[in-house]
Amino acid sequence: MMENEAVSRNFIEQIIDKDLAEGHCKTVHTRFPPEPNGYLHIGHAKSILLNYGLAQQYGGLFNMRFDDTNPTKERAEFVESIKEDIKWLGADWGDRLFFASDYFEQMYEAAVKLIQKGKAYVSELPAEQMREYRGTLTEPGKDDPSRDRSVEENLRLFQEMKEGKYKDGELVLRAKIDMASPNINMRDPVIYRVAHLNHQNTGDKWCIYPMYDFAHPIEDAIEGITHSICTLEFEDHRPLYDWVVRELEYENPPKQIEFAKLYLTNVVTGKRYIKKLVEEGIVDGWDDPRLVSIAALRRRGFTPESIKMFVELCGISKSNSSVDYAMLEYCIREDLKLKRSRVMAVLDPIKVVIDNYPEAQVEYFTVTNNMENEELGTREIPFTRELYIDREDFMEEPPKKYFRMFPGNEVRLMHAYFVKCESFIKDENGKVVEIHCTYDPASKGGNSPDGRKVKGTIHWVSAQYAKKAEVRLYENIVDEELGVYNEDGSLNLNPNSLTVLKNCYVEPSLEGAQAYESFQFVRQGYFCVDAKDSSGDALVFNRIVSLKSSYKLPSMQ
Ligand code: ATP
Ligand code: MG
Repeated sequence: MMENEAVSRNFIEQIIDKDLAEGHCKTVHTRFPPEPNGYLHIGHAKSILLNYGLAQQYGGLFNMRFDDTNPTKERAEFVESIKEDIKWLGADWGDRLFFASDYFEQMYEAAVKLIQKGKAYVSELPAEQMREYRGTLTEPGKDDPSRDRSVEENLRLFQEMKEGKYKDGELVLRAKIDMASPNINMRDPVIYRVAHLNHQNTGDKWCIYPMYDFAHPIEDAIEGITHSICTLEFEDHRPLYDWVVRELEYENPPKQIEFAKLYLTNVVTGKRYIKKLVEEGIVDGWDDPRLVSIAALRRRGFTPESIKMFVELCGISKSNSSVDYAMLEYCIREDLKLKRSRVMAVLDPIKVVIDNYPEAQVEYFTVTNNMENEELGTREIPFTRELYIDREDFMEEPPKKYFRMFPGNEVRLMHAYFVKCESFIKDENGKVVEIHCTYDPASKGGNSPDGRKVKGTIHWVSAQYAKKAEVRLYENIVDEELGVYNEDGSLNLNPNSLTVLKNCYVEPSLEGAQAYESFQFVRQGYFCVDAKDSSGDALVFNRIVSLKSSYKLPSMQ
């Protein structure tokens, strides 16, 4: 390997390279282990793409594993949504789909093995006392009175726990490690608890359930995971992870590696908060386009490629930091730039009548779908005497440097003709409702017939042929200026996070656009057909992102 290649590799790749070079592992094997207790968000996407990407890169294996060992919070509904999201992101687990709950028997046996080795004991210490006995960061803990119970008695009690002889919380199984450890996680952690709960996969078969720190390393070891990648908050749990795989004497124990979570500015990812927003009807479900769950990003019109680009730009690091939402917007613009047709849509219409254009006439202009990518082909757009243009493209009394439509000014109607504004009509409130123009037939296609120049080019749709549409514009759901949370811990909501425009017109070529299809609306941004609310004759578009950006990649600054 070249020296500069080694430098550009992230710290996880460096660990894997070393493990391969030193023969600690032959085939790299990673996993993504979500708990099915909610929808996946952009942070999870980072973990999915990292784990899947490493397996791909090293020609290894990738497991999809539901970490469903805690029946209190888990629901089957989430299993399906999680699978759908991961597939959509492009992480293909093939036939490697696993459920941690399928290993309950092995976990039970592992606990028995620890008891037999004198490394675990049953305790009846009430939870509150257990907390007291645990000590603090500065004081060591105290031994549990049951710590020296005999192996035989421990085995009998643990068996009875399994058989349902005890109530929830009455007995627990603790690992016997070190009550004086400076790491509190090592002070005889609870590894099994009694809980008479129905589990979505195993039903009523079990009334004892393993704790996460005990279950997770076993799951990894059973599946032959070589590199168990998790987030930074588990760093202090690593000694326990290592203890579990060592004491259980796995031949090729997995190795835990921690990286920093992905945080985005001005977005809400906490399940607790999102749940509240959903329940209070402030957002339209877990896939509301203002959220950053994967389902919401998909509904908004983000692509798997844009999310992958984003995650790669963020990089992998060991220190927590927050990434600007604008970077995600940069990625979707970059991804869609060459892939989508550039069409005309009028979001805030004013009618334009071209007085010298024949009333019954319709002309079709053939236009290139994307000037930067000829492969997207061409389409036809109808031009008629009555059109709509956007209100912001007309001004009665323009300021200097306003080159769009105003009385006496000539502008180009994109792809069509030069037109000159002759007059306009106002309603009783003084609002301009109709503009009258004349066109120059010699400027067909929007080309100057005699070298005379027009400074403004504006978009339009045919009033007769355009399709009516609803367009939804979004801003961050929380207030950018004032921060995400109020002093009382509630969310500081941005009242303008959603603007619904009901009276928009789009080119007829968009008729029949399907859910998740997206387009560039020239001069306006990228828009995506809403998968929930749009239908053939009542189109609804979500604005993915505007065209303008002041964002610069850190490397470009
Ligand atoms: P949350 O509470 O934010 O929904 P979680 O950690 O409870 O997240 P899990 O289902 O336990 O969700 O996580 C599955 C995997 O995703 C874990 O390996 C976890 O480390 C990783 N993960 C969770 N949040 C992030 C994040 N913000 N950035 C990167 N990885 C994450
Ligand atoms: Mg969790």
